Amino acid sequence: EPQAQSGAIKTTCAYCGVGCGIQTNGQQLTGDSDHPANHGALCIKGASLLETMAYPQRLLYPRVAGKHASWDQALDHIAERFTQIIDESGPEAIGFYVSGQLMTEDYYVANKLMKGYLGAANIDTNSRLCMSSAVMAHQRAFGEDVVPACYADLELCNLLVIVGANTAWTHPIVFRRIQQARSRNPQLKLVVIDPRKTMTAEQADLHLPLRPGSDVALFNGLCRYLQQNNGLDERYIADHVSGYAELSQLLDSAEYEPAAVAATCGVNERDLRAFYHWFCREPKSVTLFCQGVNQSNQGTDKGNSIINAHLLTGRVGKPGASPFSITGQPNAMGGREVGGLATQLAAHMGFSEQHCDRVQRFWRSPTIARKPGLKAVDLFTAVHEKKIRALWVIATNPAISLPDSARVREALANCELLIVSEMTPNTDTAKFADILLPAAGWGERGGTVTNSERCISRQRAFTAPPGEARPDWWALAEVGKRMGFAEAFAYQGLNDILREFAALTAFENQGERQLHLGELAKLSDAELDAWQPARWPLNPAVSIVERDRRFGDGHFSTPDGKARLMAVQPQLPQLDLPAPDASPGRNWLLNTGRLRDQWHTMTRTGHLTRLMETEPYPRISVNHTTLLASGLEQGQLVWIGSRRDQVLARLERDDGLADDEAFMPMHWSDLFTARGGVNRLVAPVVDPISGQPQFKQSRVQVQPF
Ligand code: SF4
Repeated sequence: EPQAQSGAIKTTCAYCGVGCGIQTNGQQLTGDSDHPANHGALCIKGASLLETMAYPQRLLYPRVAGKHASWDQALDHIAERFTQIIDESGPEAIGFYVSGQLMTEDYYVANKLMKGYLGAANIDTNSRLCMSSAVMAHQRAFGEDVVPACYADLELCNLLVIVGANTAWTHPIVFRRIQQARSRNPQLKLVVIDPRKTMTAEQADLHLPLRPGSDVALFNGLCRYLQQNNGLDERYIADHVSGYAELSQLLDSAEYEPAAVAATCGVNERDLRAFYHWFCREPKSVTLFCQGVNQSNQGTDKGNSIINAHLLTGRVGKPGASPFSITGQPNAMGGREVGGLATQLAAHMGFSEQHCDRVQRFWRSPTIARKPGLKAVDLFTAVHEKKIRALWVIATNPAISLPDSARVREALANCELLIVSEMTPNTDTAKFADILLPAAGWGERGGTVTNSERCISRQRAFTAPPGEARPDWWALAEVGKRMGFAEAFAYQGLNDILREFAALTAFENQGERQLHLGELAKLSDAELDAWQPARWPLNPAVSIVERDRRFGDGHFSTPDGKARLMAVQPQLPQLDLPAPDASPGRNWLLNTGRLRDQWHTMTRTGHLTRLMETEPYPRISVNHTTLLASGLEQGQLVWIGSRRDQVLARLERDDGLADDEAFMPMHWSDLFTARGGVNRLVAPVVDPISGQPQFKQSRVQVQPF
């Protein structure tokens, strides 16, 4: 780990997938005007990073069974117990649950230890909760999980469609770029497709408040409209796309006529036709999508229905024309690249025999996982059922963030060996830990992150970690060494890990995968330490223009080189039954999402007054009509219940919601309120392809407190 640098350093924001560059000397902080993501701008969360480092309580030393322990004691204990559990129950009895907050280097070591040395694939990440449906949609359509677009496309297009995202709040600097582009280019139309009239939707030229979950019908209707109104790029389809016959057969139905789609989606037909017309006629169209699409029982299909419309028009990876999945976390993309999801092996390789053998030869590992591991919800079910006996949670708070969170807490409480790596002992998950490991945080450790547009940046340390806090990669590598794999985990520092990961992406990669970071493997420590943000691919033979976008040449990562259209059928959300005693007018469909000023479960933002004061308590919002029908009063405390559990919140009015639909922010935990964590209410329903939970639709009932 490099020493903390003195003087001003350039680093990257710790919060969201926009990946803004920051310049700081530890006393003052500004946006980095040279960073391609933000050109110097920061939102309130990024601008508050130095203040948020003053945690009320830091975890300074390892703790074993609640008692202060040395690192040697804690790591020896973990290695011994892992070895014992593998001997008794096999490697599947151990699980890792990691995070898009990790650096690429942490992710790489965790993935290598689990899949290459313990020999199972039960490592999953909280990225499963935010974009795994987009990952699967990319893999199905493009043959590889590659985002084809870059932020500049948001400024080059003439039609920007935002689906299932409140970008103004959740990716503020991207939205700022969109606003600036609109003021420069009055032709640029903004369409927002979202059940709620959010801050983003308020600024749109057209808002389509679709019925929750009806996205596939809407985009299938668009594809049919393109067919019937000369909107297809037939040359592109013939040369670069497969699956057109199957999709055409599906679309050959009156249910995809605009009037029928408008009825299915609950939107005005004239507005729907306006959107279809604009998309059909405007070659420079970008569709930006996020959690409202992904967090569904059909998130993968929704992503593919969006990509279908872009493939039919030949608008993929071209300037101002592409589908664009935007990620939630600072390094969700780096984790995807490394293979941190249980459904990937490593470096965009899956579990085919060829890939397993290739990775095993590269790692020189004694064993290797040969099948996908458990996805997040299933992983915690296995903990609950005691099939997983030891779980290592790193930099995430599943006690609050997973669906059916009361059951997750039961699983954590009863886990035979729960290890938690955290900056503070004061999280809902850390409270259940048998072993707590103190982690270095933002500003205290370095590493690499990849943002939503494939831009690789460095986070850099400018202060020493407090107490005995250490980077996560170091703790993981030490456990590997103590389990007898000294040579495989003998990293002297971050750069050794990054070079090894980069070499793996290039190993026997004859162009079969676009992820190829071989150039990084050639760089010295000094060159890596001085790294300037750059989009991959990094091969100098690839021009800067080609680095900005992928698949623009119409050649994809599938075996036949063609992109795949997916004939996807609309499905209804999968809802719990209403409670038997539910009162009329008090049965609502609950949507959840983020606030502008908070981050995840508030572990890094909840202690700062400046960020807390805009929304100081948990609330549930409904519109005026729904409020009247409920017989409840605005401002009163209410119990919100589902078949799973109940939570307490204040009832507020938001006329941007449809009748009988409610919204609650997802950040609150029991540390901040009596009982505010909304995921207690959410059923553990997942997309069957991606395993991503359906956070956006839950049936709830409300009663006065
Ligand atoms: Fe940080 Fe995201 Fe805000 Fe940029 S937009 S400053 S990355 S939280």
